[in-house]
Amino acid sequence: MDLGLAGRTIVVTGGTSGIGLATAGLFLNEGAKVAICGRDEARLAKASADLEARFAGKVMAHRCDVTKKEDVEAFAAAVQKWAGGADILINNAGQGRMSTFATTTDEQWRAELDLKFFSQIHPVRAFQPLLEKSTAAAILAVNSLLAYQPEPYMVCTSAARAGVQSLVKSLATEFAPRIRVNSVMLGLIDSGQWERRFQARENKAQTRDEWMVELTKTKHIPFARLGLPDEVARAIVFLASPAASYVTGASLEISGGISRYI
Ligand code: NDP
Repeated sequence: MDLGLAGRTIVVTGGTSGIGLATAGLFLNEGAKVAICGRDEARLAKASADLEARFAGKVMAHRCDVTKKEDVEAFAAAVQKWAGGADILINNAGQGRMSTFATTTDEQWRAELDLKFFSQIHPVRAFQPLLEKSTAAAILAVNSLLAYQPEPYMVCTSAARAGVQSLVKSLATEFAPRIRVNSVMLGLIDSGQWERRFQARENKAQTRDEWMVELTKTKHIPFARLGLPDEVARAIVFLASPAASYVTGASLEISGGISRYI
């Protein structure tokens, strides 16, 4: 199946690690040009160099914090200058917060709501004028199953995720039929986030394999393992591609079967 991505320009926020980096690589494999962003200069330079080594001249990297409006506007201007436009926006940048209601301060609530909502809102506003000119315009939000199935240890993130899912649905309606808007709902994916959580584990004697086995048992993952960034990237690339031309307002669960709702 031809995904119709050759020659298209794709923007991946948080494209320097984990799911975003895997997604950027797959879009490049399909013949697209890809612009990535992230906050950490070193991570950005490494990701950019790795992708550029495989896809010379097809990659641009820009330092940008998606919670900062001016950063995102500058990123959009740089993409416009580099590629002359943009066809697809993947809103992937972010991370989760582990906390209960009791352990989340008001400031942490504000920071989390700010990250979850404005990591969508700022890029959508900044890239919308470019997407409006595309014949294959699409936005894809990377979201979590926590939106529908809140976890007691991620109270604040779960609430914010539910709000983002509502936003995605509203955007799909408001932007139809010009721009398709979909989301992926993730379970646990073995990325930079989980590597950081492994490094911060209480029992430092535990190996990564032992820690993972315990994690998959505690989380009751039917597939008995975490997902891989590539397994998410493949779904993102399809949903955002012209091959999914009649799909909008949809969400695809990628979780190894962890959800319990119907
Ligand atoms: P990683 O930590 O591996 O990647 C996160 C990426 O986002 C990095 O490139 C990071 O770069 C970037 N990023 C984070 N905050 C910002 C910011 N404010 N502005 C710009 N870039 C930012 O994690 P994942 O690949 O797992 O995360 C990708 C998305 O998937 C995130 O939104 C995450 O919340 C979501 N998700 C992940 C799950 C999982 O189990 N892995 C489950 C559910 C959702 P830098 O730090 O340099 O800015």
